[in-house]
Amino acid sequence: MSSKTFIPTVCPYCGAGCAFYVVVEDGRAVGLEYMAEHPVSEGALCPKGNAALEALNHPDRLTHPLVKRNGRFQEVGWEQALDFISHRLSAIRQSAGPDALGFLSSAKCSNEENYLFQKLARWLGTNNVDHCARLCHAPTVVGLAHTLGSAAMTNPIPDLINADCIFVIGSNFAENYAPVARWVWRARDRGARVIVADPRLTPTAWLADIFLQLRPGTDVALLNGMMHVILTEGLADRDFIAQRTTGFEALARHVAAYPPSRVAEITGVSPAQIVAAARAFASASAATLIYCMGITQHTTGSDNVLACADLALMCGQVGRPGAGLMPLRGQNNVQGACDMGALPDFLPGYQRVSNLRPQISNPQSAIRNPQSSGLTVVEMINAAYDGQIKAMVVMGENPILSDPNADHAREALSRLDLLVVQDIFMTETAELADVVLPAAAWAEKSGSYTTTERRVQWSPQAVQPPGEARADWQIVCDVARRIQGNLEELRGTQGGLVPPSSSEFLRVPQSSSDNPWDYASPVDVLAEINRTVPIYAGITPERLAAAPGGLFWPCPAPDHPGTPILHTERFATPDGRARLVPVDYVAPAEEPAGAFPLTLTTGRVVVHHNAGSMTRRSPSLLARAPALFVEVNPADAERLGLAEGDAVTVSTARGRAEAKVRITDTVETGVAFMPFHFEGTNRLTIDALDPRAKIPEYKVAACQVGPAKKEG
Ligand code: SF4
Repeated sequence: MSSKTFIPTVCPYCGAGCAFYVVVEDGRAVGLEYMAEHPVSEGALCPKGNAALEALNHPDRLTHPLVKRNGRFQEVGWEQALDFISHRLSAIRQSAGPDALGFLSSAKCSNEENYLFQKLARWLGTNNVDHCARLCHAPTVVGLAHTLGSAAMTNPIPDLINADCIFVIGSNFAENYAPVARWVWRARDRGARVIVADPRLTPTAWLADIFLQLRPGTDVALLNGMMHVILTEGLADRDFIAQRTTGFEALARHVAAYPPSRVAEITGVSPAQIVAAARAFASASAATLIYCMGITQHTTGSDNVLACADLALMCGQVGRPGAGLMPLRGQNNVQGACDMGALPDFLPGYQRVSNLRPQISNPQSAIRNPQSSGLTVVEMINAAYDGQIKAMVVMGENPILSDPNADHAREALSRLDLLVVQDIFMTETAELADVVLPAAAWAEKSGSYTTTERRVQWSPQAVQPPGEARADWQIVCDVARRIQGNLEELRGTQGGLVPPSSSEFLRVPQSSSDNPWDYASPVDVLAEINRTVPIYAGITPERLAAAPGGLFWPCPAPDHPGTPILHTERFATPDGRARLVPVDYVAPAEEPAGAFPLTLTTGRVVVHHNAGSMTRRSPSLLARAPALFVEVNPADAERLGLAEGDAVTVSTARGRAEAKVRITDTVETGVAFMPFHFEGTNRLTIDALDPRAKIPEYKVAACQVGPAKKEG
């Protein structure tokens, strides 16, 4: 008689990091069981978590390597696929140089896999490695790293219960991070006041005592207006400002130019509401500011983050229980992928590539100048379009769905000499690839994942992958070892570009053996991370296995308890003080006018996740949101002659998409909302970038909505 086992696992979807048990019987995942003892989710899961096994066991799972010949995929063995990839990558690197290669890492993959993936890119001599954090929270990395010295959420999710005011701006956590909503509800039940600022009346906004329905892209003006009120009414925390910050005088002078009357004109929020929100936040004994992609996905994303930090610091609301800044990171391991250096400007542990000492010990080395940053996601796509990047390796990402101006992204990837995709499904991006490698899903491999709160959790393997699918960490090592072989053949025979030897990597560290690609398991990789990433030094495999609730970084030693709350004594800046930075309101890159009179903004719905490659294959989720829709206000619908459920065409200067119209007053007149989980939405979005964070402006574009156009 078969018996069931219960294997703990971390949810593969969002950064909240809920955990549950996979129920395994006869080697198959047959169900899930709630984990009541988990400190964040406490046995609850949102619809996505509840449906996680539907994607895991889906018949569409990739099971064999595929190579495209004459426009059609053919199944091949691993040896053949790896030979093909390694020869093509080596040849392109040899002929066009290391920077002709681009690597898209994955926030869905474990810390160990991201660590190895960026190591592969740098081992081949390029910093062209990035991942979807660029598309969601790059401004958090830029903004919080500058002002606080650390680009991470300051307090754990359950700490929300200690707040007596919670200010939410640009986050719809009631749909997208269910446990956050539960902890906010608890705080509210204890008397906390909730302020929500959002262009839409979202389910999160239903929680609000004060709801500020601002125009898309006007966040800096609103935040400056609140700071203006706080200073005018003497509500700032002068002791905190004096003892723990720099730059206050300049900030005070700056926000003097943002009286509520002016801010109301820019934002559409009434002066009385601005004053009420400012008073509620500043007078709280402990206040938490939560933000998400409504803040970051703008050409002013970095400014928005800086203004959020300014507001919290001005009120002394950082570094205590219930007082902090909470940027909610999207994917299950987007925090970890950043920590592991899957970024073009940072190595593991946030060492800037520009701080590296010159390391060309071998004059023939392929590592030319590792101190220059590589290209970001959108820059790599543009470089592929222009022919500068000739080969890309994509691990678990789907840029055809997730990048802005998607038709341009499709054309760019089509121009590559080599596109390799490793994934669990045949995604829209994989369809363009020359080689597709079948990857193991989260429950089919072991590894550590870091939640949005910096909580590192171990997720052990529960079941075997289907067919010949392999874990991404194995695939990366397999590719690297093949390339090692190819390049060794070239050493000394061709001159010019030769492979770097192990000793040439001063900051891209080695595994314990001489071969940098010799790992027996993810445990070996984590042990290397312990040696090379100071904030993970004490997060050892042994401790993680014994800590079901995980460990918070920074955890600098094996006997360190971890750090749930950051900045309690000093900030992570060189002088220990936070930097207050004045920022001005700047209008979005594209405003409604002429043929495109509406403002398009984008976001998520409760039953889908990001590019939807997993949730769109979950029958129970797809049934609840089967297709693309656009929300418009009743007044706009009447003016445009649209009825509920009509097929419409949404168009922008970049393209058009078909959708069903939903008529709702959750959006204001002049605003249209579309979820970005379906193909179509990102054909419309603009690829204008924040100049520092290089994030595209997904949240604002000029559009028109009208009756569906016939093709041709
Ligand atoms: Fe998974 Fe996030 Fe839902 Fe929790 S809230 S079950 S982590 S998708």
